Amino acid sequence: MDVLIAGGGISGLSLAYLLLRSRPELDVVVYESETKTGGKIWTEKQDGYTLEGGVNGFLNNREKTLELADMLNLQPLISSDKARKRYIYKDGKLRQVMESPIGFMASDLLSLSGKLRLLYEAVAPRNCQDDETLRDFAVRRLGREAFETLIEPMASGIYAGDASKLSLKSCFPKINNLEQTYGGLIRGMIRMKWDARKSKHEVSAGPGGKLTSFEGGMGSLIAALKENLGQRVKTSTKVISIDKAESGYVVTLDNGETVTAGRVVLSTPAYASAEILRDFDASMTRELAQIPYPSVAVVCMGFKVGSFTQVFDGFGFLVPSVANKRILGTLCDSCIFPGRAPEGFILLRTMIGGARASEAANKSDAELTTLVMEEISSVMGIQGEPELVRIYRHQRAIPQYNVGHATILERLQQLQRKHLGLYLHGNSYKGIGVNDCIESSFKLSGEILNSM
Ligand SMILES: Cc1cc2nc3c(=O)[nH]c(=O)nc-3n(C[C@H](O)[C@H](O)[C@H](O)COP(=O)(O)OP(=O)(O)OC[C@H]3O[C@@H](n4cnc5c(N)ncnc54)[C@H](O)[C@@H]3O)c2cc1C
Repeated sequence: MDVLIAGGGISGLSLAYLLLRSRPELDVVVYESETKTGGKIWTEKQDGYTLEGGVNGFLNNREKTLELADMLNLQPLISSDKARKRYIYKDGKLRQVMESPIGFMASDLLSLSGKLRLLYEAVAPRNCQDDETLRDFAVRRLGREAFETLIEPMASGIYAGDASKLSLKSCFPKINNLEQTYGGLIRGMIRMKWDARKSKHEVSAGPGGKLTSFEGGMGSLIAALKENLGQRVKTSTKVISIDKAESGYVVTLDNGETVTAGRVVLSTPAYASAEILRDFDASMTRELAQIPYPSVAVVCMGFKVGSFTQVFDGFGFLVPSVANKRILGTLCDSCIFPGRAPEGFILLRTMIGGARASEAANKSDAELTTLVMEEISSVMGIQGEPELVRIYRHQRAIPQYNVGHATILERLQQLQRKHLGLYLHGNSYKGIGVNDCIESSFKLSGEILNSM
């Protein structure tokens, strides 16, 4: 075999597809331990609903995912304009996060002193610390209130993470660069806007772009890749271990088979790659095992439109940890992508668990349903019970790029140099999102093909 790929999530499948698109004669096989492919991309259809058990979409401001979709003849579906309306739960009610600076300053999201403290950012001194937590950065530059109200819930929304552990430079390199290059965020934004005037580029300190998916949900991307790869994807087959062979590697599978391959790509989560490498390179295992993965549960609920006493027409809301709720936030999927619920129904998706309360994701279905209803009913004006409840659990959901993550990557890179033709791939390393995984597949496929 030319290339053996462990892990049939978006990273592994897109890599296999890109390799074969350039060199169809290659012998490439993807081994996936579960009965289904897709990993954290998990779309199901039920009673007229399109349910996303994991990934909801990707931002359309980075080209590689769109390029891949185009190769597969998939038409992207951009979220509705309603999705621009985002809310934060504060002091018992939902408050809209205004997009424009003037709208934001006029809103009631922060107190007057919180807003004045935010303006101090323009003159706050630059930090010299190399690897700072998101919390330390935000409190230092933006103030405690802005951290608690805006930044901490954002860390929950993206990483399901704990802002007092997440590394600013590993999680939000763009924001870190603004401070390092321009001395601060406000100064950096003004300079970049000024510079971009001529080139007419959109400038933002955040991720930018619009949330995008496909008519049939994110699962359409996986289905198209799987159809294309056909028999080259072997599900229900776990990669157990790896060893050096005369040329390349010998890989042991859980069905007792051994397979030799010139190149091996571990597109498995870091903790799974750590297991695979245990007897092969204990130092790599030690590094990989340090990347934590908290649990997350996704609770999908369908309601009749008439169950709402007030109209909710935005993206959804995030909950700051100071609010003392147990949910991380709720998205209105049928507002974001119309057609996700049958006519006359609304589909909500609530996230529970994450780094601050990982164990909450492991509650029983009945407990999770009660918990979500207790926490969203009064906030969203819901009367009555949901018509549909479907719960998805991710035992080890999202890799946490905590302080020290960059050092782990450096050490892994050094250790990996000893093993020519062995690659670590997937969202455990340099970007957790679908866009990151696909960009990294484009890059890695080029690297592998060049090495042949
Ligand atoms: C609840 C949730 C919501 C998310 N929402 C978004 C979102 O909206 N947008 C976004 O960009 N990102 C989102 N993410 C992040 C998302 O996980 C990544 O974007 C991406 O799906 C990761 O893909 P991957 O292939 O790298 O890893 P995974 O999807 O984890 O795939 C790894 C695969 O390896 C398999 N595997 C494990 N061990 C073995 C083994 N020993 N042998 C063989 N196979 C093995 C697993 O079964 C799995 O299929 C979300 C994550 C979660 C958990």
